[in-house]
Amino acid sequence: MLDSKPFIVVDRRKFLAAAAGFIAAGLMPKSVLALAGPYSFKQGTVDVTVVSDGHLVLPIDVFAPDAPPEARKALFTAAGVTGNEVQAPTNVTLIKSGADLILFDNGSGTEFQPTAGKLIENLKLAGIDPGAITKVVFTHAHPDHIWATVGAGGALNFPNAAYCCAAAEWDFWMGKDILTQMPKEMHPFVLGAQKHLNGVKDRVTMVKPGDDIVSGIRVLETFGHTPGHVSFEVAGDGGLIIVADAIGLPFIYFPHPEWRLAFDAIHDLAIANRKKLLDRAATDKTKLLGFHWPYPGVGHAERKDSAYQFVAAM
Ligand SMILES: [Zn+2]
Repeated sequence: MLDSKPFIVVDRRKFLAAAAGFIAAGLMPKSVLALAGPYSFKQGTVDVTVVSDGHLVLPIDVFAPDAPPEARKALFTAAGVTGNEVQAPTNVTLIKSGADLILFDNGSGTEFQPTAGKLIENLKLAGIDPGAITKVVFTHAHPDHIWATVGAGGALNFPNAAYCCAAAEWDFWMGKDILTQMPKEMHPFVLGAQKHLNGVKDRVTMVKPGDDIVSGIRVLETFGHTPGHVSFEVAGDGGLIIVADAIGLPFIYFPHPEWRLAFDAIHDLAIANRKKLLDRAATDKTKLLGFHWPYPGVGHAERKDSAYQFVAAM
């Protein structure tokens, strides 16, 4: 039987690319993009939506600085990166589970990079009121993940939410000797983490690997990027792992999980956990969602040669 309506099926990615082109040319109002809405899918009994916080602009030198230069350059070139900077997307995960509306990290806020900090605007464009968020769950306390906790006026941007943070992460950033232990260049990160964590100290629940945030969403230990970095496993339909920064830019760290990332705090541990996560995801065919992967950052790990490749879901 002939399908009578294939012509109205719109490839969303092509549509967005075309719409972005029209907007750049001044031919289409920005609201058209908002109408397309953020990327959403169902995972078991929950609804997952990926809301962009914008992107970061990072020097390429932080990615695998000590890797063989030619091999590294080939991967950047193949990904279209030919200059000294790379745009790293910032994908915030929103999950609706029963009566809960759970945000995993909240982005950069207004004090980090001008290309990021768009989460609240993008939530509103998608029709989601920040006051409706019931839980904000932190993967780790870097600026691009938690600096939208306390707003510009000092009030919480998600005023009705309960907060969750891995105890190991909280204890690291809030340790009383941390400023003397960390190099001076890291002090803005420390002071920022302390400001935003302090903002929720009366309403935070400390969690540890193996704990459930709600039924079906479990804390997964991926320490290394920061001392208490965690990912999250969402049950149902073969499973989803909210990876956060356990695996950085996919075109670098899927083929070379053994390469270092300058932002990783404990290199050996970060690399071991990256390898473990990729091996498990490739074996179990688990869906993955990466914070800095091309929007919406959803896809799979497939084995390739002696490592992996990222296969985007769209
Ligand atoms: Zn990050």
